[in-house]
Amino acid sequence: MAATLQAIRGMNDVLPDEAAGWLAFEEIVRDCMHRYGYRNIRTPLLEQTGLFRRAIGEVTDIVEKEMYTFTDELNGEQLTLRPEATASTVRAAIEHSLTYNGPVRLWYAGPMYRHERPQKGRYRQFHQFGAEALGFAGPDLDAELIVMCAALWKTLGLGDVRLELNSIGSQEERARHRVELIRFLETKVEALDGDAKRRMHSNPLRVLDSKNPVVQEATKDAPVLMDFLGEASLAHFDGVKKLLGAAGIGFSVNPRLVRGLDYYNLTVFEWITDKLGAQGTVCAGGRYDGLFEQIGGKPTPAVGFAAGIERLIALWQDAGRVPAPHAPQAYLIHQGEGALEYALLAAEALRAAGHAVVQHGGGGSFKSQMKKADASGAPIALIVGEDEVRAGELTLKYLRRDRPQARIRRDGLVAGFNAALKET
Ligand code: ATP
Ligand code: MG
Repeated sequence: MAATLQAIRGMNDVLPDEAAGWLAFEEIVRDCMHRYGYRNIRTPLLEQTGLFRRAIGEVTDIVEKEMYTFTDELNGEQLTLRPEATASTVRAAIEHSLTYNGPVRLWYAGPMYRHERPQKGRYRQFHQFGAEALGFAGPDLDAELIVMCAALWKTLGLGDVRLELNSIGSQEERARHRVELIRFLETKVEALDGDAKRRMHSNPLRVLDSKNPVVQEATKDAPVLMDFLGEASLAHFDGVKKLLGAAGIGFSVNPRLVRGLDYYNLTVFEWITDKLGAQGTVCAGGRYDGLFEQIGGKPTPAVGFAAGIERLIALWQDAGRVPAPHAPQAYLIHQGEGALEYALLAAEALRAAGHAVVQHGGGGSFKSQMKKADASGAPIALIVGEDEVRAGELTLKYLRRDRPQARIRRDGLVAGFNAALKET
């Protein structure tokens, strides 16, 4: 016997029972994006490695150790499975001059790839949806994206997500803070772990973001970036906070909140839940005014977020808000001379009228077919035997209600079925 094959570690199948919830989730996201005027964009799963190195930054978890990178042996190109989609979206926007006529609002959804240690809420193939507002400089769009997230959590019925907010200022402000921060970290070297020591000089802000409690304790009195922000940065931050206040959205300012990705500036935010253990960040975003230039475009201010679909769906399940999968409206069983063709055409007529009809496949006795009808969850079984074919009718049986079965005319099938559905 051939050896059985399994999915790659950290890359999950979403089986039909669960996929129904994913579809419902995606529909809600799609509808939300539409209501805020965001237009869908689809970029390839593979990009040149250089895109992510330049866009995400060399000294980040993603570029240092998480990317699936390989050489295309057919032509020698260095390729990477996308670890996130902002870089690809901006690459596409530059390549196709999407902001030529002014700012644009875009959204995407799909799988992302990172070589991480798989655990609950952390996978090697995972899914994100995200929105990117390209070409907008003001705090209004930062606020709009956050308001949109809040509306989405409300639609999904997720009560336990809180908002943390920070401003990481401009590059110049970060440069001045950085000098002080490195000076501070040098006095704490003995308390830093390997990652923190390595990043102390290359990306010291990330040290403040460490999840190691020893490092957190040692850096609790580190110079605060917020104290280095100038008037313009503070005004932008105030603008965001004011709009969130007006929209009635609660938040807490977390001065240690930085983003793993180097291209962020000014506003950064995370939506966090305590319900999912250590993997509690369900959505993260911020402004990245420097990214277009960094990958060869014209200076273009931009702001966006990415949300983790697996974590949000887990939260949605926790909240008991995932809708039950749709059962078909009817299960059609058939047996005898001419019954199959008759059933097929009747099913097609009902489907053309918008009904979900499962036609029994594979034969079997009426009794075993009825069992399948019952298990399908449909409220109605339609039955076609030789008798029905001869009479030009179908037998209709209510599966979830105690009502006598009835005959409906084949030539008035849709009307008869609609009337019966009202009785279910
Ligand atoms: P973390 O600190 O958890 O590693 P991150 O900073 O790497 O997160 P982002 O790159 O900001 O995460 O991605 C945005 C969101 O995507 C996260 O908040 C999370 O919900 C989700 N996410 C990121 N990595 C994974 C993963 N490996 N598996 C599942 N979801 C993920
Ligand atoms: Mg990560």
